[in-house]
Amino acid sequence: AADHTMYHAKHAGRNNVCFYSDIVHLKALGREHVAIQSRLSDAIRNGALQVYYQPVIHARSGEVMAVEALARWQDDQSGWISPELFIPMAEKVGLIQELSELVIRIALERLRSWRDAGLKQRLMINISRSQLFYPRFISQLIEWLDEKRLSPQDIILEITESVALTDYARQLKHLKHLVMAGFQLAIDDFGTGYSALSQLHEMPANLLKVDVSFAQRLHTEEGRRVMQAIVQLGRGLGLQIVVEGVENLETARFLQGLGVDYLQGFHFSEPVPAGVVDLYLRLGLGNRT
Ligand code: C2E
Ligand code: MG
Ligand code: MG
Ligand code: MG
Repeated sequence: AADHTMYHAKHAGRNNVCFYSDIVHLKALGREHVAIQSRLSDAIRNGALQVYYQPVIHARSGEVMAVEALARWQDDQSGWISPELFIPMAEKVGLIQELSELVIRIALERLRSWRDAGLKQRLMINISRSQLFYPRFISQLIEWLDEKRLSPQDIILEITESVALTDYARQLKHLKHLVMAGFQLAIDDFGTGYSALSQLHEMPANLLKVDVSFAQRLHTEEGRRVMQAIVQLGRGLGLQIVVEGVENLETARFLQGLGVDYLQGFHFSEPVPAGVVDLYLRLGLGNRT
C-alpha cells in the first residue's frame, strides 16, 4: 500500500483523506454513541458521506476486474468513523436504505465516468440483508442504472454470509430475483457466518469473498490448510474465489499458487478516494503481483 499512500498524502492533503490508521473504531467511542447516531442521520441527509474504492485484482493477469465501493464518514467531532460501527448503527435505526441509496448513487455516477473513459471494470456494492426485503429495492436499483445508461451486468452485489435461518427461504427468493434481473452476486465475509453448506450450494452466487481474517492466518500451517480447503469448497460449488485482506506479496503468491481467482487488499491498494482509483484504473497500475 506504500506507493498509493504516499501518492495521496502528497497530492490530496492528509487532512481530508481517510487513512486506515486514522479510523475511529467502536471501542474508542464509548458513551458518545447516541450523539453519533443523530450526526449520522444528519450526514446522510446532507449527503455528507463519501465513497472510497478498492480494486479487486485478477490473480493471474494482475488486472483490475472490479472496484468495490465502501462508505466513508468523516464526522466533524470524531473524525473518520469506521463502517464497522456506522453500518450496523444505520441498520439498527432504520437508516440503511437511505445510506445505501446515497452510496449507490455516488458510485454509479463514478461508474458512468469510467465507462465514458472506456474502462470496463465492474462495480461491487455492499448491501445489507435487510435491504433485500425492501419492496422497491430491485426496481429502484434498475431505475438508477437506467438513468446512468448502465445495466445490472455492470454490478456485483455483495451480501454478507451470516443468514438468519428463519428468513432463509425468503432471502433466497429475493436473491434469485436479483440474478434474474442480471446482477451478479458475491457472498461476502465468507467463513464468518453461520450458513450451512447445504444452503451455500443453493445460493445463486457467482463469487465467494473469503473474509479478511483468513488471509491473516497464512503464516501458520493450519491457516494455510484452512485456506486451501475453502478454495476447494468454493471451486466444488462452481464459485469464483476472491480473497480479501491480501497485505503482502508473499500472501499474494501463495494464493496465486492455490488457484484463487481474485485478490483484494492493502498490498494492491487500500480503499481510496475516487480521484485516486481513477488514476489506478486509467494507468493500469494493477500489475503488482
Ligand atoms: P467488507 O465489504 O467485507 O469490506 C472489506 C473491509 O476490509 C473494508 O473495511 C476494507 O477497508 C478492509 N480491507 C481491505 N483490504 C484489507 C487488508 O488488506 N487488510 C485489512 N486488515 N483490511 C482490509 P471497511 O471499509 O472498514 O468496511 C467494513 C465493512 O462495512 C465492509 O466489509 C462492509 O460489510 C461494510 N460496508 C462498507 N460500506 C458499505 C455500504 O455502502 N453498505 C453496506 N451495507 N455495508 C458497507
Ligand atoms: Mg464487501
Ligand atoms: Mg468482506
Ligand atoms: Mg466485512
